[in-house]
Amino acid sequence: MKPSLLQAINDRLRAARHILVVTHVGPDGDAIGSLLGLGGLLWDQGKAATLACEDPVPESYRFLAGSELVVQQAGNRPDLLVSVDCSDRDRMGESFAALEGIPLINIDHHVTNTMFGDVNWVEPSCASTTQMLLELAEGLGWQLRPPVADCLLCGLVTDTRSFRTANVDGETIGAAQRLLAAGASLSRVARQALDLRSLGSVRLWGEAVNALQLRDGILWTRVTRAMRQRWSVEDRETSGLSNFLSGVREARIVAVFTEVDNGDVDVSLRAQPGVDVAQVALRLGGGGHALASGLTMKGDLDEVEQRVLAELHRSLAEQETRHG
Ligand code: AMP
Ligand code: MN
Ligand code: MN
Repeated sequence: MKPSLLQAINDRLRAARHILVVTHVGPDGDAIGSLLGLGGLLWDQGKAATLACEDPVPESYRFLAGSELVVQQAGNRPDLLVSVDCSDRDRMGESFAALEGIPLINIDHHVTNTMFGDVNWVEPSCASTTQMLLELAEGLGWQLRPPVADCLLCGLVTDTRSFRTANVDGETIGAAQRLLAAGASLSRVARQALDLRSLGSVRLWGEAVNALQLRDGILWTRVTRAMRQRWSVEDRETSGLSNFLSGVREARIVAVFTEVDNGDVDVSLRAQPGVDVAQVALRLGGGGHALASGLTMKGDLDEVEQRVLAELHRSLAEQETRHG
């Protein structure tokens, strides 16, 4: 991280009296790990910080310290906003994206980041936003307590699916090693955040797996509202399914279409190494990484499915012509 950037962030954090840290809607392990990790670090520095996410903290991350303190709406007007793991302003959710006239520090690792902050610290080479926060803490000489180290490790473990994604390098492992040295528990974090799930969600996967379709290298399925109700599964508990499906040999791209409660459709995309789904996601209003992206679209499930599949087919054909 550039020293000038570290300085700029430090100056703004120091000067702020009430900081609002916000993470993305439909939070994953890096979103919640970053939110609680940065929150814990700021609290340890004696800073007043409110931690917010428009959606509730998913069950999988409620073992992390501070999860019960996350709020879903802004209270008193903060004098500094920090977004973590958000690739664009709208990812903070409507109510937070609408907060105007408050300086914003944007801390994120998505290639598709739109640089929407007043200070933008974006590192696509980092495997998780929590890896960046570890660098921040180290750069500022902040002490790391074990519960905070667990939060930061949670982001690394979930975004890399236990250090197995293509972007894992020596830096990633080095960061994890330092978090373990600070008292984080890899086995606990991996089990809680990645492995444990309800029986209902596995049964729902069963239904979704039964409905899989494969055409021209694209493997897709859908999770309807009725399926989620049948198995009592919350809105966005399905990225585990697309991760699982990304191991299917016959698939170059995986797409899981999930009907969420407000009527939108969440699309979770995965690509085999060498294929890029981030560009399609970006073009359709979403974002992410080359091998794991997502987007949200209004409209009915059939329509969204057709539109996204058409774009994916076109993009895959283009990529295959380009690379032969
Ligand atoms: P998921 O498929 O939900 O696990 O998400 C995979 C990646 O895509 C993550 O890095 C997300 O941050 C990103 N992503 C998912 N949904 C969206 C969206 N609606 N807009 C922008 N990025 C997204
Ligand atoms: Mn995320
Ligand atoms: Mn992330």
